[in-house]
Amino acid sequence: MRVPLGARSVLGIALETLPKPMDRALKPIGECLDSTPLLDPTQLALGRWLAQYYHAPLGEALRLFLPPEARRQEQSTQARADALRLTTEGATLLAALAADQVPPGLGRAPAQQAALRALGAGPQRRAELLAAGHRAPTLRTLLQKGWLEPCGASTPATPVPAPPLHSEQAEAVAALTADRGTFRTTLLQGITGSGKTEVYLQVMTQVLEEGKQVLVLVPEIGLTPQTAQRLAARLSAPVHTLHSGMATGLRNQRWEAGRSGAPMVLLGTRSSLFAPLPALGLIIVDEEHDDSYKQQDGVRYSARDVAVKRGALQGCPVVLGSATPSLETLENARQGRYGHLRLSHRAGQAQAPRQRFVDLRKHGAPEGFAQPTLDAISETLARGAQALVFLNRRGYAPALRCHACGWLADCDRCDARMTVHRDPARLRCHHCDRSQPIPGVCPSCKERSPMPVGQGTQRAESLLQHRFPETPILRLDRDKVRSMARLEAELEAIAHTPGALLLGTQMLAKGHHFPRVELVVIVDGDSGLFSADFRAPERLAQLLVQVAGRAGRELAPGTVLIQTHDPEHPLLQAVVTQGYDAFAEAALEERALLGLPPFAPLALLRAEAPQWAPVERFLTEAKAALLAAPGAEAQSTLGPIRAPMARRSGRFRGQLLLQGTERAPLHRNLAHALPQIDKLPSARQVRWHCDIDPSDTY
Ligand code: ADP
Ligand code: ZN
Ligand code: ZN
Repeated sequence: MRVPLGARSVLGIALETLPKPMDRALKPIGECLDSTPLLDPTQLALGRWLAQYYHAPLGEALRLFLPPEARRQEQSTQARADALRLTTEGATLLAALAADQVPPGLGRAPAQQAALRALGAGPQRRAELLAAGHRAPTLRTLLQKGWLEPCGASTPATPVPAPPLHSEQAEAVAALTADRGTFRTTLLQGITGSGKTEVYLQVMTQVLEEGKQVLVLVPEIGLTPQTAQRLAARLSAPVHTLHSGMATGLRNQRWEAGRSGAPMVLLGTRSSLFAPLPALGLIIVDEEHDDSYKQQDGVRYSARDVAVKRGALQGCPVVLGSATPSLETLENARQGRYGHLRLSHRAGQAQAPRQRFVDLRKHGAPEGFAQPTLDAISETLARGAQALVFLNRRGYAPALRCHACGWLADCDRCDARMTVHRDPARLRCHHCDRSQPIPGVCPSCKERSPMPVGQGTQRAESLLQHRFPETPILRLDRDKVRSMARLEAELEAIAHTPGALLLGTQMLAKGHHFPRVELVVIVDGDSGLFSADFRAPERLAQLLVQVAGRAGRELAPGTVLIQTHDPEHPLLQAVVTQGYDAFAEAALEERALLGLPPFAPLALLRAEAPQWAPVERFLTEAKAALLAAPGAEAQSTLGPIRAPMARRSGRFRGQLLLQGTERAPLHRNLAHALPQIDKLPSARQVRWHCDIDPSDTY
């Protein structure tokens, strides 16, 4: 509704009506925009929980649940899927009409009769129906009467049959289907290619047959088309995708399809979590360990954790799937709070890849690639198989240096180096997006031209193209792939090209299926070993396993080569020789010793300003407020300290880290202190926020 606030008129959501009028004089509501509630009870309850848990304003939390387009004029809440089809009831009516019996309620409605007849042959796109002269109000009436229902236009007539399950899959499906109708969270841990998606499919089939809805979360928009096609080919219910890259109108339609309660699969990125799905019967969070499930501005929620909460509210099972589960989820499973199912070998005939180190101390790699690596690539391409080269650094080179005086190109606005780019040739800061021309002579000694140092994907591409001139190379990184349509097209084209090279950043590591890849090269196995962030080892281990999972997906066994200066590093050793579980075991032990998540909750108060002084003043006063509030005795409050990247985009950044022993006192402390911190005069001199369960401490 629209309500007056001071001199302005703002949008608001009515949450409840009070039993008796308040003593204060209240202004009347300006305009009521929706005749039916915009948010259903689950959405409201989840919104309230989000506001409370993440210490966010209720309005900001509820805004997540609003349809992508605030529907100002439109009164209808009817479903707007791509296509419509007859319900069983509708089909019965149509049969009666065909037999010249005019059912009650249809006698004087020739337009409705005509629309029913039009759908007698099967589903039709709404746009086609409208083009054929059927009117929107007629369709809406039929939907309201339950004679029509929305469906995805891509719904196949006969779904592709399921393969017979191997025994671990069968056990997983049995366990998960037994949970139907009750809330329970289960970790499905299976190496890449072990058949997790197959398990999801069979559980989904049963849930959909009961007339329920399924929500599937995936980390990246790049993953939705492949997954959507696979699900749609197998399920008889419509599969709707939803992500922020879609046009607003289409997203709105998907939202409305969910609201209808019709059986369907909603497949999307983290914001799909807030769609109305009144008949929700199953939530799947695929690649649950993925960083992108954590929202990094506004309400800083973890989509994985909110999914579990939503499952609890709607009484349905939640499946967290991953080859490399987060340490949080693993610990929940170890404590018995979550179920734990495993798929330990690959489905079909695929074999697990062999992993080998290439010792860069022994071989050297003047151009980024050691000789044994180049030999392996050449041999793979000669066989007509594909090789995938993974380098998590975009651009041409990560630094520009003068070899006469040692000058390095730094960003003026960040504590960071400028990255050298080609096409167009510029220096770019990856932290603030600033760019400038590449200097021809060293700005410091004016003697020599500074040279690019190190290797990014652009440089690797030109090196490889030079070495393998006949080979088609597809580079995938954020500079190259800017649109989702482009990404889909490129992936589709390359997947079936024999003897091709794929080269890219972590975009390549995520879930895509590359059936011809038989060799994976990790160019820089050392990156990430020495980061300040406590989650860095976990991320590196996940990345190594995920990237390795791209090799040998179908019939041929794959090989993974990891180039490193430190093949004895305990982390690399654990992951490569013993696998992810051994790594996780050791990493959990270390986290327990250090009092870090999942054993102790964290909250991070971040602040930034054009100078350091106001940041420090604010954080010092905030710390005092936290220490004075109840619950403070149960936690340590570290700081104020400068953030690991102390200056970014010309702003100084500082933080206070709250390390709790238990969740309840930490939240009590924050609930008391944050409103006071918000009122501090020093709070107005900085930009600040509180991040609950931060995914990194940067
Ligand atoms: P994940 O999701 O764990 O990576 P998928 O479900 O994608 O694994 O399965 C990997 C490959 O194995 C796919 O090509 C899939 O069709 C195939 N597959 C899965 N389960 C079976 C099975 N029981 N029998 C034969 N092939 C299977
Ligand atoms: Zn110089
Ligand atoms: Zn910068």
